[in-house]
Amino acid sequence: MNYKDYIRIIPDYPQPGIRFKDITTLTNNGPVYAHAIDAIRQAVADKQIDLVAGPEARGFIIGAPLAVTLGAGFVPIRKSGKLPGEVIEASYDLEYGNDKLAIHKDAIKPGQRVLIADDLLATGGTIATTINLIRQLGGEVVGAAFLIELGYLDGRKKLDGIDIFSLMTY
Ligand code: 5GP
Repeated sequence: MNYKDYIRIIPDYPQPGIRFKDITTLTNNGPVYAHAIDAIRQAVADKQIDLVAGPEARGFIIGAPLAVTLGAGFVPIRKSGKLPGEVIEASYDLEYGNDKLAIHKDAIKPGQRVLIADDLLATGGTIATTINLIRQLGGEVVGAAFLIELGYLDGRKKLDGIDIFSLMTY
Protein backbone atom coordinates (compact mmCIF):
# COMPACT_ATOMS: atom_id res chain seq x y z
CA MET A 1 0.00 0.00 0.00
CA ASN A 2 1.24 3.49 -0.79
CA TYR A 3 0.48 5.14 2.54
CA LYS A 4 1.79 8.52 1.37
CA ASP A 5 -1.25 8.83 -0.89
CA TYR A 6 -3.27 9.26 2.32
CA ILE A 7 -1.09 11.93 3.98
CA ARG A 8 -2.15 15.54 3.39
CA ILE A 9 0.62 18.15 3.34
CA ILE A 10 -0.45 21.49 4.82
CA PRO A 11 1.96 24.31 3.97
CA ASP A 12 2.85 26.95 6.57
CA TYR A 13 1.19 25.14 9.50
CA PRO A 14 1.60 25.82 12.40
CA GLN A 15 4.26 28.33 11.33
CA PRO A 16 5.46 29.78 8.00
CA GLY A 17 7.93 27.44 6.31
CA ILE A 18 6.67 24.22 7.96
CA ARG A 19 5.08 21.66 5.67
CA PHE A 20 2.85 19.84 8.15
CA LYS A 21 2.12 16.17 7.48
CA ASP A 22 -1.54 15.70 8.35
CA ILE A 23 -2.22 12.07 9.32
CA THR A 24 -5.97 12.52 9.85
CA THR A 25 -6.54 11.89 6.13
CA LEU A 26 -5.04 8.42 6.69
CA THR A 27 -6.72 7.63 10.00
CA ASN A 28 -10.20 8.64 8.80
CA ASN A 29 -10.03 5.79 6.29
CA GLY A 30 -10.84 2.63 8.28
CA PRO A 31 -9.18 0.00 6.05
CA VAL A 32 -6.05 2.11 5.50
CA TYR A 33 -5.73 2.93 9.22
CA ALA A 34 -6.09 -0.77 10.11
CA HIS A 35 -3.55 -1.72 7.41
CA ALA A 36 -1.04 0.82 8.75
CA ILE A 37 -1.41 -0.34 12.36
CA ASP A 38 -1.07 -3.95 11.29
CA ALA A 39 2.09 -3.18 9.29
CA ILE A 40 3.65 -1.66 12.41
CA ARG A 41 2.47 -4.64 14.51
CA GLN A 42 4.20 -7.04 12.12
CA ALA A 43 7.43 -5.01 12.24
CA VAL A 44 7.62 -5.16 16.07
CA ALA A 45 5.94 -8.53 16.68
CA ASP A 46 9.14 -10.30 17.82
CA LYS A 47 9.99 -7.78 20.54
CA GLN A 48 7.98 -9.28 23.43
CA ILE A 49 6.41 -5.95 24.25
CA ASP A 50 4.72 -5.48 27.64
CA LEU A 51 3.69 -1.85 27.13
CA VAL A 52 3.30 0.70 24.35
CA ALA A 53 3.95 4.30 25.42
CA GLY A 54 2.65 7.15 23.27
CA PRO A 55 3.12 10.91 23.70
CA GLU A 56 0.09 13.22 23.65
CA ALA A 57 -1.83 13.60 21.48
CA ARG A 58 -1.18 11.95 18.14
CA GLY A 59 0.90 9.24 19.81
CA PHE A 60 -2.38 7.99 21.27
CA ILE A 61 -3.87 7.60 17.77
CA ILE A 62 -1.07 5.20 16.82
CA GLY A 63 -0.04 3.75 20.17
CA ALA A 64 -3.43 2.70 21.57
CA PRO A 65 -4.62 0.56 18.62
CA LEU A 66 -1.11 -0.86 18.31
CA ALA A 67 -1.12 -1.87 21.99
CA VAL A 68 -4.46 -3.63 21.60
CA THR A 69 -3.32 -5.61 18.53
CA LEU A 70 -0.12 -6.61 20.37
CA GLY A 71 -1.97 -7.60 23.54
CA ALA A 72 0.13 -5.03 25.40
CA GLY A 73 -0.88 -2.27 27.80
CA PHE A 74 -0.89 1.41 26.81
CA VAL A 75 0.86 4.15 28.79
CA PRO A 76 -0.04 7.77 27.95
CA ILE A 77 2.80 10.31 28.07
CA ARG A 78 1.09 13.64 28.68
CA LYS A 79 1.80 17.35 28.80
CA SER A 80 2.51 18.70 32.27
CA GLY A 81 -0.57 19.05 34.52
CA LYS A 82 -2.82 16.54 32.72
CA LEU A 83 -2.22 13.29 34.59
CA PRO A 84 -4.14 12.88 37.86
CA GLY A 85 -1.67 10.71 39.81
CA GLU A 86 1.91 11.21 40.97
CA VAL A 87 4.19 11.94 38.01
CA ILE A 88 7.76 12.50 36.95
CA GLU A 89 8.38 15.20 34.34
CA ALA A 90 11.00 16.24 31.78
CA SER A 91 11.34 19.27 29.47
CA TYR A 92 11.72 18.97 25.72
CA ASP A 93 12.07 21.03 22.53
CA LEU A 94 9.83 20.63 19.50
CA GLU A 95 10.40 21.42 15.84
CA TYR A 96 8.40 24.51 16.83
CA GLY A 97 8.42 25.57 20.53
CA ASN A 98 9.01 23.59 23.73
CA ASP A 99 7.05 21.88 26.47
CA LYS A 100 7.13 19.46 29.40
CA LEU A 101 6.12 15.79 29.32
CA ALA A 102 4.93 13.71 32.25
CA ILE A 103 4.33 10.04 33.08
CA HIS A 104 2.65 8.40 36.06
CA LYS A 105 5.33 7.19 38.49
CA ASP A 106 3.75 3.74 38.72
CA ALA A 107 2.97 3.35 34.98
CA ILE A 108 5.97 1.10 34.30
CA LYS A 109 7.54 -1.55 36.52
CA PRO A 110 11.32 -2.04 36.41
CA GLY A 111 12.29 -4.43 33.62
CA GLN A 112 9.08 -4.08 31.59
CA ARG A 113 9.67 -3.99 27.84
CA VAL A 114 8.30 -0.78 26.35
CA LEU A 115 7.74 0.20 22.72
CA ILE A 116 7.31 3.90 22.01
CA ALA A 117 4.77 4.90 19.35
CA ASP A 118 4.06 8.28 17.78
CA ASP A 119 2.71 9.64 14.53
CA LEU A 120 5.88 11.35 13.41
CA LEU A 121 9.62 11.55 14.15
CA ALA A 122 10.97 15.05 13.44
CA THR A 123 13.98 16.32 15.45
CA GLY A 124 13.63 13.47 17.95
CA GLY A 125 13.16 15.76 20.97
CA THR A 126 9.77 14.33 21.95
CA ILE A 127 10.97 10.75 21.77
CA ALA A 128 14.32 11.41 23.48
CA THR A 129 12.33 12.86 26.40
CA THR A 130 9.91 9.93 26.36
CA ILE A 131 12.88 7.52 26.48
CA ASN A 132 14.31 9.45 29.42
CA LEU A 133 11.02 9.18 31.37
CA ILE A 134 10.63 5.44 30.67
CA ARG A 135 14.22 4.72 31.71
CA GLN A 136 13.84 6.75 34.92
CA LEU A 137 11.08 4.30 35.88
CA GLY A 138 13.29 1.30 35.05
CA GLY A 139 11.52 0.38 31.81
CA GLU A 140 13.49 -1.14 28.95
CA VAL A 141 12.91 0.75 25.68
CA VAL A 142 12.86 -1.97 23.01
CA GLY A 143 12.10 0.28 20.04
CA ALA A 144 10.17 3.19 18.61
CA ALA A 145 7.57 3.05 15.83
CA PHE A 146 6.19 5.88 13.70
CA LEU A 147 3.88 6.41 10.80
CA ILE A 148 6.24 9.04 9.43
CA GLU A 149 9.92 9.90 9.78
CA LEU A 150 11.28 13.22 8.52
CA GLY A 151 14.66 11.83 7.47
CA TYR A 152 16.14 15.24 6.71
CA LEU A 153 15.84 16.30 10.37
CA ASP A 154 18.00 13.38 11.52
CA GLY A 155 15.94 12.68 14.64
CA ARG A 156 17.40 9.15 14.76
CA LYS A 157 20.71 10.59 15.95
CA LYS A 158 19.08 11.69 19.22
CA LEU A 159 17.65 8.25 19.88
CA ASP A 160 20.70 6.50 21.18
CA GLY A 161 20.83 3.48 18.89
CA ILE A 162 17.22 2.51 19.59
CA ASP A 163 15.59 0.26 16.99
CA ILE A 164 13.33 2.51 14.88
CA PHE A 165 10.55 1.52 12.50
CA SER A 166 8.86 4.10 10.26
CA LEU A 167 6.11 3.27 7.81
CA MET A 168 6.92 6.32 5.63
CA THR A 169 9.99 8.52 5.24
CA TYR A 170 10.13 12.03 3.79
P1 5GP B 1 10.13 16.10 17.34
O1 5GP B 1 10.09 16.14 18.82
O2 5GP B 1 10.62 14.78 16.80
O3 5GP B 1 10.86 17.26 16.74
O4 5GP B 1 8.64 16.32 16.83
C1 5GP B 1 7.75 15.27 16.75
C2 5GP B 1 6.45 15.64 17.40
O5 5GP B 1 5.91 16.81 16.80
C3 5GP B 1 5.45 14.51 17.22
O6 5GP B 1 4.82 14.25 18.46
C4 5GP B 1 4.48 15.02 16.18
O7 5GP B 1 3.15 14.77 16.56
C5 5GP B 1 4.72 16.53 16.09
N1 5GP B 1 4.95 16.95 14.69
C6 5GP B 1 5.97 17.71 14.22
N2 5GP B 1 5.85 17.95 12.92
C7 5GP B 1 4.74 17.29 12.52
C8 5GP B 1 4.08 17.13 11.25
O8 5GP B 1 4.50 17.62 10.19
N3 5GP B 1 2.97 16.38 11.24
C9 5GP B 1 2.47 15.79 12.36
N4 5GP B 1 1.36 15.05 12.25
N5 5GP B 1 3.06 15.93 13.57
C10 5GP B 1 4.17 16.67 13.66
